[in-house]
Amino acid sequence: MAPLRANVIPVFMLHRIENKDLGISGHSVESIETALRFINEHGYQGVSIEQISDALANNIPLPKNSVAFTLDDGFAEQAEVALPLFEKHKIPVTLFLATDMLDKKSWSWDYKLEYIIQHTKHKQVKTILAGQPFTADIASYDQKRSFTRKIRWFLKAYSIGETHKSVQHLAHSLDVQVPIEAPAQYRSMTWQQAKQAESNYVQFGPHTCAHNVLSQLSGEEAKQEIERSWQRIQEELSNPCPVFCYPTGRPNVDFGMREKQIVANAGFKSALSAESGYIDIKNKHKNDIYSLNRFAFPNTLTDFKQYCSWIERAKNLALFR
Ligand SMILES: [Zn+2]
Repeated sequence: MAPLRANVIPVFMLHRIENKDLGISGHSVESIETALRFINEHGYQGVSIEQISDALANNIPLPKNSVAFTLDDGFAEQAEVALPLFEKHKIPVTLFLATDMLDKKSWSWDYKLEYIIQHTKHKQVKTILAGQPFTADIASYDQKRSFTRKIRWFLKAYSIGETHKSVQHLAHSLDVQVPIEAPAQYRSMTWQQAKQAESNYVQFGPHTCAHNVLSQLSGEEAKQEIERSWQRIQEELSNPCPVFCYPTGRPNVDFGMREKQIVANAGFKSALSAESGYIDIKNKHKNDIYSLNRFAFPNTLTDFKQYCSWIERAKNLALFR
């Protein structure tokens, strides 16, 4: 079975890092560190997204058993907690920044939504969002989480104007004042932190400015979001990664042909989706280089090992038979 793995590379996608004091749920430091140690101790080789893009474009060979890591968004704890772990274990990582977070200290509507539902004193919600009625119990932590998830997916199908209106309306219904600047839980990293973090192992790439779902914007707005975020990264940093990363990242839902064309025209080497799957390094034509697959970073070392080894690949092949 081993040759199967030699043909494919898993790229892992990480988001927030857990901080119970600040109410941030996410990956634990321990789970990241265990995975990085596993990579170094079991004959795997960390490579960067840019190396993979070059390998796909120019037949530059990659080390055997390559594995890659990405972080999305640009929150403070990603710079303060996650990047030093990759640095310590000498494993490359690319962090994709929603540049308005760093420029304007703004925070995106989906985190405002989470904040409103977490901070309301109401135990029930009854409201109408984008013309649709919603009623739910939101007394417990789990109820809050499931209601947040439901509304987040619901609003992703609407225009950004409608989405902002709905978030405001929900804040009003639940008597929550939404701060203009991101509170501690949603604090962004700074450009200064990004500059200091750049190294042989740490690179930064663009993830739009405002972190809106691109397919919900006009063509001109989508182009602006992609090009302006890339411009900001190039202005601020010395070794920017010429790979784009789509917010939310579901192919043909959150982005499509239009966005892939804009990304290609802007000169990016490749782009990343959030669709599960390996990158096929042998049969290169099987990849869509402007919609490369990633795996959500798994919670357990057992799952992580499976993605790194041939097991998950073998399962995929069995599925497609
Ligand atoms: Zn994101």
